[in-house]
Amino acid sequence: MRPRSNPRSTSRRRAVTKIAFIGLGNMGGGMAANQAKAGHAVRAFDLSATALDKAKAAGCIPVDSVVEAVRDAEVVITMLPAGPHVRGVYVDSIIGAAPSTALLIDCSTIDVDSARAVANQAREAGYRFADAPVSGGTAAAEAGTLAFMVGCDARDFADVEAALEPMSRITIRAGDHGAGQAAKICNNMLLGISMLGTCEAIALAERLGLDPERFFEIASKSSGQCWSVSSYYPWPGPVPTAPSNRDYQGGFATAMMLKDLKLAQEAAAKAGATTPLGAQAEAMYALFDRLGHGGRDFSAMLQLMRGKLDELA
Ligand code: NAD
Repeated sequence: MRPRSNPRSTSRRRAVTKIAFIGLGNMGGGMAANQAKAGHAVRAFDLSATALDKAKAAGCIPVDSVVEAVRDAEVVITMLPAGPHVRGVYVDSIIGAAPSTALLIDCSTIDVDSARAVANQAREAGYRFADAPVSGGTAAAEAGTLAFMVGCDARDFADVEAALEPMSRITIRAGDHGAGQAAKICNNMLLGISMLGTCEAIALAERLGLDPERFFEIASKSSGQCWSVSSYYPWPGPVPTAPSNRDYQGGFATAMMLKDLKLAQEAAAKAGATTPLGAQAEAMYALFDRLGHGGRDFSAMLQLMRGKLDELA
């Protein structure tokens, strides 16, 4: 784990690197912009013309296909929705089309099996590959303060870390290929569970006549303290940056949390791990999604726990 002030990374950053950036959505758009801001030559591709226009305005070079983006790339970065997109793009348009010297980094959140399958195919074709999913939402993507969890060969980590530096606050090697995705789904399963616990406790506090803001003062300094309480309190007021202050818009969508919890359950089933709280959390977010709130921040679960869905605008 190294902070972004690492002198080696900074000196690498000054050299202009030819980067291919594929997937310029909510996350990838800001990430590609930060690579361009750092002075790199970023050839960018997305299926969406709007995303390409935004990338151009941010200093990237829009191109017409993945193959065109990766043709001369030294580093290829992908930020795509899910496993099937990543498998398809790597097999059809990156492996064999990028120079075999290129470093391939997938930052999407996908299942561990897909990450390992793509890593194996890339390595058989002579490439270095890393799975490097991120923690931090769109604000961190724009600010260049994401946390990356990396699965790669130990000898490739320094180059991966340097390539990610303009987009990162911290980069941690989790282990070999697939370990980055494993870290990501375990972390998000923990977050999904801790948010439900936080919402449940606030709903109970309210029913017991305890002011939820006063409960924040106590829980954030007691053994109930966790990130969901201290940095993302689901009741408006105590944490001004939390989505609870803007009717749970923006932030981390319930549908995204549900996707990550499904990945965790699939991985647990394959590995024979017992994750009863993760299973319960998945069921709760699936219900909230089914009720039409998949686009809201996941901390809006508080209103379900309070039995006050009508308070959502
Ligand atoms: P998004 O849907 O906004 O962006 C994905 C982009 O990929 C879209 O612009 C889409 O057009 C593009 N795309 C799809 N298939 C393509 C293809 N074949 N070629 C080129 N472009 C293609 O999603 P997002 O919010 O940016 O999330 C991307 C990844 O990051 C997901 O795996 C998500 O789970 C993960 N993630 C998201 C957040 C968040 O807060 N949004 C946080 C952490 C991790």
